[in-house]
Amino acid sequence: MENALNVSQLSGNLSKELLKEAVDKFGTPLYVYDLGRIEARFNALKQAFSGRKVLICYALKANSNLSVIKKLSSLESGADCVSLGEIKRAVMAGIPKYKIIYSGVGKQDFEIKEAIGLGILFVNVESKEEMLRVEACARELGSPARISIRVNPNIDPQTHPYIATGLKENKFGVSIEEAKGMYLHAHNAEFLEPVGIHFHIGSQLTKLKPIAEAAQKIAQLTRSLLALKIDIKFFDIGGGIGIAYNDENTIPPHDYAQAILAELRGLDVTIICEPGRFIVGNSGVFLTQVLYQKENQGKRFVVVDGAMNDLIRPSLYAAYHQILALKNTESKMSEADVVGPICESGDYLGKNIVLPHCKRGDILAVLSAGAYGFSMASNYNTRPRCAEVVVENGKIRLVRKRESFEDLIALEREYL
Ligand SMILES: *Cc1c(COP(=O)(O)O)cnc(C)c1O
Repeated sequence: MENALNVSQLSGNLSKELLKEAVDKFGTPLYVYDLGRIEARFNALKQAFSGRKVLICYALKANSNLSVIKKLSSLESGADCVSLGEIKRAVMAGIPKYKIIYSGVGKQDFEIKEAIGLGILFVNVESKEEMLRVEACARELGSPARISIRVNPNIDPQTHPYIATGLKENKFGVSIEEAKGMYLHAHNAEFLEPVGIHFHIGSQLTKLKPIAEAAQKIAQLTRSLLALKIDIKFFDIGGGIGIAYNDENTIPPHDYAQAILAELRGLDVTIICEPGRFIVGNSGVFLTQVLYQKENQGKRFVVVDGAMNDLIRPSLYAAYHQILALKNTESKMSEADVVGPICESGDYLGKNIVLPHCKRGDILAVLSAGAYGFSMASNYNTRPRCAEVVVENGKIRLVRKRESFEDLIALEREYL
């Protein structure tokens, strides 16, 4: 299993020289994505399920840059979307509509109608009420809606509480009991076509057991639905496969696939898998530049031009990212907090990171920043969102321009 990018791996597709070249051309802060690595990750997962009917629907929310989606589209990926905006991105990047699924607990009527109208593969419904809304929208359009029901198996995924989604105290999905009633309703409804079953127990999963248990419970439910002549064609196992940010043990794709397949014996279903982080997480680096180094009563701070508005994972989940200085240095290493310019104590990219002495202009690479990085970025403190570039075949290409002050105020200025 691949680890997080480390110093030695930086000599691969994303060499220090290439990253420096990217900074020279496009400045900092900057996201750099390695499209070759994205392809390798996608293919590794796909191969793990080879010989089975499988559709990998990349979860756009992890990294929704159009060029990244387009790359995945060229690999025949589908898309797992959680808003109409993401569906539009998927379509724009060339993902066929019949490979798009639509998840999320709070879909609005206009989103549901447009999704049905487009003819996407199915809508993942997350409550009885939402199913009735989907039914009403489909009736209004005069065209039946294919649905899948997100079942909450009440299993502890053993991950950070903010990204656990399959426990009964989480807002996601419906219980197995409630799902049965919903399937019966959908089965008899003129404008609903229940074609799938779905679960997604959390993100950054590093243990196989909870996934296997969830698959077992949902497979059992699927068998009882098939016995009722409810024709479940798609078994959607969600996403959530974890990656290494440091030295975590991760789940090898082969073991993951085998654990799922073991629970599906005798079921003739297409497996749908919705990975986000697994595909893009280790494939991206966030580059930032040192502004100052300061010491407060013996504690060293490296103040950089990147901040929590660019990469919020450390502030939001106390997430750890390796951080490397790109310079070759003989200076001795010591711990420092890497902090941004934002007026919040929570504005940091790393705490107690071992770094050489840093001076103005040094470039730091925050590793494994390809997932939930730019896609969670904001304009807090009126900071323009940074640029994004990709590396493909040794070449660097800008895929999103750095925002300008003008971009930030465009929707306000006419009211002055
Ligand atoms: C967020 C999410 C995913 C992707 O999660 P990762 O941890 O990035 O793989 C997949 N499916 C659903 C329904 C999600 O909400």
